Amino acid sequence: MGIEFLNFEAFHSPIRDEMVETFKEIYDSNSLILGEHLNQFERNYATLSSTDQAIGVSNGLDALFLSLKSLGIGKGDEVIVPSNTYIATVLAVSYTGAKPVFAEPDTATYNLDPNNLENAITPKTRAVIPVHLYGQACEMDSIVAVANNHDLYVIEDNAQAHGAKFLSKPTGSWGVVNATSFYPTKNLGALGDAGAVTTDDNKLAQKIRILRNYGSSEKYINKEIGYNKRLDELQAAFLNIKMKYLKKWTAQRQVIAGWYNDELNGIGDLILPQEHPNSTHVYHLYVIRTGQREGLQKYLKKHDIGTLIHYPIPPHLQRAYSELNYKKGAFPVAEQLANEVLSIPIWPGMSEEQADEVIREIKQFF
Ligand SMILES: *Cc1c(COP(=O)(O)O)cnc(C)c1O
Repeated sequence: MGIEFLNFEAFHSPIRDEMVETFKEIYDSNSLILGEHLNQFERNYATLSSTDQAIGVSNGLDALFLSLKSLGIGKGDEVIVPSNTYIATVLAVSYTGAKPVFAEPDTATYNLDPNNLENAITPKTRAVIPVHLYGQACEMDSIVAVANNHDLYVIEDNAQAHGAKFLSKPTGSWGVVNATSFYPTKNLGALGDAGAVTTDDNKLAQKIRILRNYGSSEKYINKEIGYNKRLDELQAAFLNIKMKYLKKWTAQRQVIAGWYNDELNGIGDLILPQEHPNSTHVYHLYVIRTGQREGLQKYLKKHDIGTLIHYPIPPHLQRAYSELNYKKGAFPVAEQLANEVLSIPIWPGMSEEQADEVIREIKQFF
């Protein structure tokens, strides 16, 4: 039957009417920017994150950038990021003028290893950005402990783990200020670009509200050189609707991951996702590893099954970061992961038949 890597149909069609009605309402209103839908979204998302404040912004990269800016991080500073993260985490650091410094992930969870974090700290380090990669919460207690010992800010990159928890505390509530993305394919996705910052610090929240809106809190009064990085009313309203279903959609992702865990265990040289006992995994992605990644991906493509690689080239080997002068071998864990990881289809509402077909073809290949 053919299985795409991601299909919106199963979870978007049941809410189509609700979404269209909201669009009509906003279309007919005169309020398109910084209005009631954004206020409502910010309250809803703060509640979901167990934080005092949420600030809607233009996208995840901007949420990371504004988080760093609000803490005064810039030229001369170092910020530690995982060596296997998506490029956006690293770009946000570069935008501020600070230097990104890589630390290798844990080989079981692929999340930042607190020991490697400790080893990457220098006198210039100001902050660390743990990334809850693929949807699994990082070991936040240890990461926060290391950061506190060295007087570093923690800024979570929660783009892939909406609704996840470490122990009983949600991702996006551990750092002093935290960033997330609602890119359409994320677990909570808008119908375009969107992002948010979460924090318990009201001063930082106010700073970010000003920075996202031209450096202004009062119309035509500009206190500093700010940006236009707002979240618009349409996206905020769509997110308010979709947020109501996040729990259910997450549970569906976890059920599908369970089928894969049961059926793919012990097949060929496959390494399946490993859950840390204290972490929730919300399976933004279901990522397997194999020494035969190229062959498996090609085979699945031939049999009409979509896969993606998250991510094929680690940031330190990207041309954009050639100035950092890293050679192949500098971060062997990230490099090995880049050569072996493969994300297989998963989305809320994916049927058991569809998952079975993916499983069957993977077994067939091995
Ligand atoms: C998606 C993503 C981002 C960037 O979000 P955008 O909204 O696309 O700018 C940042 N970090 C991680 C880990 C992501 O997955």
